[in-house]
Amino acid sequence: MNKKVAFYTLGCKLNYSETSSIGRQFNQAGFNTVEFTDTPDVFVINTCSVTDNADKKCKKVVKEALRISPNAYITIVGCYAQLKPKEIAEIPGVDMVLGAAEKFQIIDYITDLTKKDKAVVYNQPVSEAKDFVAGFSIGDRTRTFLKVQDGCDYSCTFCTIPLARGNSRSDTIEHVIEQANEIAASGVKEIVLTGVNLGDFGIRDGQRQDKFFDLVKALDEVEGINRFRISSIEPNLLSDEIIEFVAQSKRFVPHFHIPLQSGSDKILGLMRRRYKRDLYVSRVAKIKQLMPHCCIGVDVIVGFPGETRDDFIDTYDFLNELDISYLHVFTYSERENTLASEMSGVVPGSTRAERSKMLHILSDKKRRIFYESQLGKTDEVLFEGDIKDGFMHGFTRNYVKIKTAYDPLLVNELKSVQLTKISPDGDVEITESEEILAH
Ligand code: SF4
Repeated sequence: MNKKVAFYTLGCKLNYSETSSIGRQFNQAGFNTVEFTDTPDVFVINTCSVTDNADKKCKKVVKEALRISPNAYITIVGCYAQLKPKEIAEIPGVDMVLGAAEKFQIIDYITDLTKKDKAVVYNQPVSEAKDFVAGFSIGDRTRTFLKVQDGCDYSCTFCTIPLARGNSRSDTIEHVIEQANEIAASGVKEIVLTGVNLGDFGIRDGQRQDKFFDLVKALDEVEGINRFRISSIEPNLLSDEIIEFVAQSKRFVPHFHIPLQSGSDKILGLMRRRYKRDLYVSRVAKIKQLMPHCCIGVDVIVGFPGETRDDFIDTYDFLNELDISYLHVFTYSERENTLASEMSGVVPGSTRAERSKMLHILSDKKRRIFYESQLGKTDEVLFEGDIKDGFMHGFTRNYVKIKTAYDPLLVNELKSVQLTKISPDGDVEITESEEILAH
C-alpha cells in the first residue's frame, strides 16, 4: 500500500503554493496525500518566520502530529527552518530539517522513514537558494495562488525574509502562462499572483530579464481565467503603466494591496523603505482617478522602534485621510539578526497593543465606508464553496465580501449581482442583476 503524507502550512500564501508543489513531488514519488488526522506515515510542516511565536506553533504542530501517528516521520521546512535549524532539530520527535535550498529536493532527502534519535539537518547558507521553483496552490476550486517570484533584494530593517528566502528571482513569463493555462483547464476561475516582492518580478540568474508589467500584459490574454488579482505590490514598484493597464484590463481586477508600513517619513526612513509617504499618496490618487471603485488594502506596522506617540498619530491621521478600503495591521515584534531589533526607542508591548487596536478600529471603519460606497452598484461575484449557518460567500471583482443563502449551483460560478445592504456581520447582501457587465 502507498505511504501516506500530510502537510501543515504556517504563514503566507507563498508557503501554501510551495506546500502544494512539495505535495506534487510526494505524489509523483508514490505517496498519497491525506488529512493531518488520517494517521500519515510522513508529516511535512512548512514554517514561517514572520508568524509570531513560530517556535511555539511549530512545537505544537509536531506534538499533535506525534499524538496522531507516534511513528510518523516528521520533516520541517520553510523560513523558520532556514533561520533556526538547530532550534528546530531540538524539538522532540522531529526527524529532518530542510533549508531553503533543500526543501524542493525533499524526496531525495527522505531515504528511509525510520524515526531518528536526533534530527538530521540539511541547511546550506541562504545564498545557495538561487533556483526559482514554481508552484501553485490546489484544493480550492475557486481561487489559486500562483507563485511567480521568490526572495527579495530589499533590506527593510525589520524583515527576515531575505535571510530566509534569499535573493529576488522569478519564473519566466512563458512558464507562468503555461501554468495559468493548466490552472484554467482545472476549472479554477481566479488566480492570485504571489511572490515575496511581486513587483520585482523579472530577475533570473541575478539579471533583470523582464518587468512585472510585461507579465501582467501577457497574462491578460489568458482566455480560460476570468480574474487575476495582484496579491501585494510595493508602492515604489506600482508604476503608472501598471495602474493604467489594470484600469482597462479584461481580467485584472480593480484591487491592489500596497504595503505602507508607516505614515511617518521618519519611521519609513528607519525601516529603510524605498519611498516616502508622498509617493504613497500619489499611488492612491492615480488609482482612484482611473478606478474610483478600486479596493485598496494597506499593510501597516505599529510599535516600530522609535515610533513616538506623535509618529503614530501621524500614521493614524495619514491613513484616516487616505481613500483606502482596509488595513492589515501588524504589531512590530523583534526578530533576531535584524537591524531594527538593535534600535533604540523600543515601544512597550502595551503601547504596541493599544496602537494596533486603534488601527483595527480604523480598518473596520474604512471597510464599512468602502462597502457603503458600493451599495446600489452592480458587480460580478465569484461564489466560493464554503457554507456556514446556511450561507455562502463570494467576492466582487473589487473585493467586497458578499453573503447569500447557500445554493450549490452557485459554487464557483460568476454572477452579476446588485449590492443591496450591509448585513449585521459586516458582509454585503445582494439581489441578482440582469445587467450585463462590461469588463
Ligand atoms: S520588501 Fe522589505 S518587507 Fe518586503 S520582503 Fe523585502 S525586505 Fe521584507
